[in-house]
Amino acid sequence: MTYRADNARYDNMQYRRSGRSGLKLPVVSLGLWQNFGGTRDYPGAMDILGYAFDNGITHFDLANNYGPPAGSSEELFGRVLARDFRPYRDEMIISTKAGYNMWPGPYGEWGSRKYLLASLDQSLQRMGLDYVDIFYSHRYDPETPLEETMGALAHAVTSGKALYVGISSYPEQETREAHRILKEMGVALTIHQPSYSMINRWIEKDSTIEACGELGIGMIAFSPLAQGVLSGKYNSGNMAGTRGDNPNGTLRASHIEPRVLAAVDKVGAIARARGQTMVQLALAWVLRRAEMTSALIGVRTLEQLKDNLGVLNNLALSDEEVAAIDAATRE
Ligand code: NDP
Repeated sequence: MTYRADNARYDNMQYRRSGRSGLKLPVVSLGLWQNFGGTRDYPGAMDILGYAFDNGITHFDLANNYGPPAGSSEELFGRVLARDFRPYRDEMIISTKAGYNMWPGPYGEWGSRKYLLASLDQSLQRMGLDYVDIFYSHRYDPETPLEETMGALAHAVTSGKALYVGISSYPEQETREAHRILKEMGVALTIHQPSYSMINRWIEKDSTIEACGELGIGMIAFSPLAQGVLSGKYNSGNMAGTRGDNPNGTLRASHIEPRVLAAVDKVGAIARARGQTMVQLALAWVLRRAEMTSALIGVRTLEQLKDNLGVLNNLALSDEEVAAIDAATRE
């Protein structure tokens, strides 16, 4: 049966403006990095994606290399668009990126104009789209002039293949430079996508978060649950089927070393006192910052998505709670 979106889909979600742009994003966005690749069956994917859209998640985040294998997440999302989501295209913000290794040879990664624009065309083809809403430079390339990388993003906008552009994981100074160069080209830098969580605060330490606030660049935090560590499951030892259980997975031993698990334990007590699950507290914490437009989650199961969406019931944090989380988690 073809999907039909729930009429009540906008009743509970909250939307925030991305910096000083006209673009609003849901406070919870869904990424398709690891859980929507080649081994995910269509009905299982559609259960999650349909539920997300039914609950106001209008933003789906992809990249050329998401899978595994690379490209398979975009192919799956293309099938979802063709079969079920097409009537709702104008209600959705679909993003993709280029920066990491995608094909062999000198033009298959990093930040050259050659790579970025070829990759964007490939992404559009895999998803069956004429344009994406946001196109990102996935990582800063120290060997390519930033003018060239930003020029490629600007071209994506002027050629109509992207409506907005963003950068991912750029440090503070490079963020400021990217903003300046794009502005000179008449294109706004609409969004920055860094990793950010209670236990990964690099954007606080190097002031990228303040720079984005000052320059009017929106922010969307990836891995706000530290890839699941902030659910507490690695404390309980209940990790069958998880990223930590996968020897080829992206969760490394350093992500769950004793120091981290001790911090997570303390956060668990704060969550319980608030009557929230740990993931809900972790998301509320990321969203406490005015600069933060959205928390970009990944989920493997529908139950995880339902749990995470519970954050909407209590987003407010008191100064005392923030201080207690700082004391528990700051290095
Ligand atoms: P999260 O920190 O949200 O981690 C997601 C994982 O956490 C899930 O796969 C699951 O792990 C676990 N999890 C989620 N909800 C729950 C829950 N309620 N209870 C228990 N466990 C839970 O984010 P990701 O690291 O997945 O990143 C999110 C998105 O950010 C990506 O899909 C991608 O779009 C983007 N991203 C961007 C990057 C970039 O360089 N720009 C890099 C990385 C991600 P498990 O599968 O083990 O159960």
